[in-house]
Amino acid sequence: MLIINCNNYSDSYQWYKGNLHTHTFWSDGDAPPEITVDWYKSNEYDFLALSDHNILSTVEKWIKVHDNDPGGWPPTMTKTKLKDIQNKFGFDWINTRIKDDTLEMQLTTLDKLKIKFETDNDFLLIQSEEISDKYEKTPIHINATNISEFIPPQGGNSIFDVLQRNINAVREQRKTTGQAMIAHINHPNYEWALLSEHLINIQGDSFFEVYNGHPLVNNWGNNEKPSTDKMWDMVLTMRILKNLPPMYGLAVDDAHAYYRYKVGKANPGRGWVMVKAKGLNAEKIISSLESGNFYSSTGVLINNINQNNKSYMVYISKKTGITYTTQFIGSTHSINQKDDLDNNEIGKIFYETKTNPAIYNFTGKEIYVRAKIISDKLQENPYSKGDLEMAWTQPFVLK
Ligand SMILES: [Zn+2]
Ligand SMILES: [Zn+2]
Repeated sequence: MLIINCNNYSDSYQWYKGNLHTHTFWSDGDAPPEITVDWYKSNEYDFLALSDHNILSTVEKWIKVHDNDPGGWPPTMTKTKLKDIQNKFGFDWINTRIKDDTLEMQLTTLDKLKIKFETDNDFLLIQSEEISDKYEKTPIHINATNISEFIPPQGGNSIFDVLQRNINAVREQRKTTGQAMIAHINHPNYEWALLSEHLINIQGDSFFEVYNGHPLVNNWGNNEKPSTDKMWDMVLTMRILKNLPPMYGLAVDDAHAYYRYKVGKANPGRGWVMVKAKGLNAEKIISSLESGNFYSSTGVLINNINQNNKSYMVYISKKTGITYTTQFIGSTHSINQKDDLDNNEIGKIFYETKTNPAIYNFTGKEIYVRAKIISDKLQENPYSKGDLEMAWTQPFVLK
């Protein structure tokens, strides 16, 4: 399934670092879009998807500029932030006006940002939307990456129905426009909204956030609820038993806060994907995501991932003084009930090693294997205190 490092053509592939989930003042981020994009570009990302809630940055939108920031929610645009933009991009970059005795500024559109930031073809901006829907009181969010037209929340008759209808809307737009685009399911444990049962039967695009940097998303679960990692194994096991394609796991920032950096704020730089693609454009990035040609990271970098019918190999890019533990995780043929989610054979650690490359030789019993690499280095400004730098590779299906 994975086509990484097939020696004949690996030369034409390159790793690209990107974040697929980002907010700005276009919805509830606390920074104007140019400050957000500038952060990612100057922190050596290759691509960035701007994914505000239920809006595309294509229209004329003005926001109030306040004298001071009173704190709280929603975030406030201030004169200090405006000065910051004018210092960085020039006085004429931003349109301002006085309306009803109040200073307002016009939000910069994606087209204008593209002209500014994509100049040397070394950075790519992708138009996205976080379709923010709900079922009764349950929040259901789907990111639509590289869409060409706005998609309103589709609603539905159950949690599953809302998920599926929004994913279908993205697929429908792809069919009509011919533009490559994908949907992914956001932060399943945000307000404990989604269960693995809701993800198992999803048809069409199957991506979800195994890691999200927003402090309210419950990545690691709790005493009663499974972590997103555990959910992934439940979903993978059942999908493979049902002959559905595997679900891929993404790490994203879901960044909202660009002015105060600390645990508890939704800061940029916490989780990202490394995509092995043939070039830096949205079509190629999406094509690689769809073939599982990527890994997710909160700090651990990988040189290569290689699978064949005998083994799964991970070549870690080592930093001096850091120890890496690689866990090869999966389920075996011993699970054959398509609804046996409590089976404790789901998502077993088959093998754990500190060697590099980390190599797992298949025994013939696995239905899939994925790898999780955990370093002993604490993440700077983590999602939660004490988090270590990690990486997740995509599942290799053996059934
Ligand atoms: Zn969300
Ligand atoms: Zn979000």
